[in-house]
Amino acid sequence: MTPIHVQLADRLGQLPPYLFAELDRLKQEVVARGVDVISLGIGDPDLPTPPHIIEALCRAARDPANHQYPSYEGMLRFRRAVADWYAARGTGIKLDPATEVVSLIGSKEGIGHLPWAFVNPGEAVLCPTPGYPVYEAGTLFAHGEVVEILLREEDRFLIDYSKIPQGILERARVLFLNYPCNPTATCAPKSFYEETIEVAQAFDIIVCHDAAYSEIYYDDQRPLSFLDLPGAKEVGVEFHSLSKTYNMTGWRLGWVAGNREVVAGLGKIKTNIDSGVFQAVQEAGITALSGDQSCVADLRATYQRRRDVALAGLKRIGLEPVTPEAAFYVWIHCPEGGTAAEFAARVLQEAGVVITPGIGFGSGGEGYVRMTLTVDEARLEEAIERIGKVM
Ligand SMILES: *Cc1c(COP(=O)(O)O)cnc(C)c1O
Repeated sequence: MTPIHVQLADRLGQLPPYLFAELDRLKQEVVARGVDVISLGIGDPDLPTPPHIIEALCRAARDPANHQYPSYEGMLRFRRAVADWYAARGTGIKLDPATEVVSLIGSKEGIGHLPWAFVNPGEAVLCPTPGYPVYEAGTLFAHGEVVEILLREEDRFLIDYSKIPQGILERARVLFLNYPCNPTATCAPKSFYEETIEVAQAFDIIVCHDAAYSEIYYDDQRPLSFLDLPGAKEVGVEFHSLSKTYNMTGWRLGWVAGNREVVAGLGKIKTNIDSGVFQAVQEAGITALSGDQSCVADLRATYQRRRDVALAGLKRIGLEPVTPEAAFYVWIHCPEGGTAAEFAARVLQEAGVVITPGIGFGSGGEGYVRMTLTVDEARLEEAIERIGKVM
């Protein structure tokens, strides 16, 4: 029988071109040569989930009450654990677990679906670049218009609202923000969030703050988060996740919290397409959020050592890293001449080290590469030494 003619929907054609095909091919080639490739490409923690969280999952998995469909919005006890976790930050934020928190199948899921709830075809969504590609993909799937907002190093990778034309602010329905930022590893000060809230109020823009890295920070400088500010709940929500804080990327558990109408709108999309998070995973999430937080302090100490090693090493070999304030990335200037993709290709081919060309995070990433800190110090040292030899 001849196969039917499969035609992809136009929305898939609108996605930006996949830029890493050539790098993927090169990697296969380098691996086939027998090179011991060091992968500093993907933002996925190398360390395991803390044992007490795994125990909680195992216990909950044996309970038949957890084998049925969960509620789409998440167990009330999980949502209460989220509200309590915010309260423990001591910034005065109060969330009603019943109406201001919904569980997510990882925060990527909620971020990707949010534009479906609030963006009509042709309406604008402000997406920072360099930034997490899901903001743009979710917008395109909802047939919204992606408006890329350039984050400049001279602005400390913050949005300069005065540079956004008034007409665009008027058309914007949603603004995505992400601090600590992937890929720049920089944070936002209180004054930036205050300005964001003012702009959102003036133009009726829903602020969606992606706070995936809020607990991974350096030099004891805990970053403020959008929801920590008075007035944040009036204009938006925060996406958060257990993925990075507790090394739980594979578990798929996150949440959206804040403005109840926004939480409810996203919840309405979700009721129609998914059935929530496995309750045993939520039980493990409750244990993670409400249990002893020393595992998070240990994780920060580990990344701090790695960051210090990487920062010193990169400078020693003549590269110019942006000093990471948080998250487990180093955002590095490419050496003069050539594109980020060319530099990443050379590092892969000649040093056997995978790094990500900045252009993968949108046009604002050209001129930079991103290195992850998800290998141990010895491996990081080796990677940097090898890169040094090909510079
Ligand atoms: C890792 C990451 C997330 C979290 O994704 P999950 O779906 O919760 O695992 C969200 N935003 C950014 C910018 C990330 O890097």
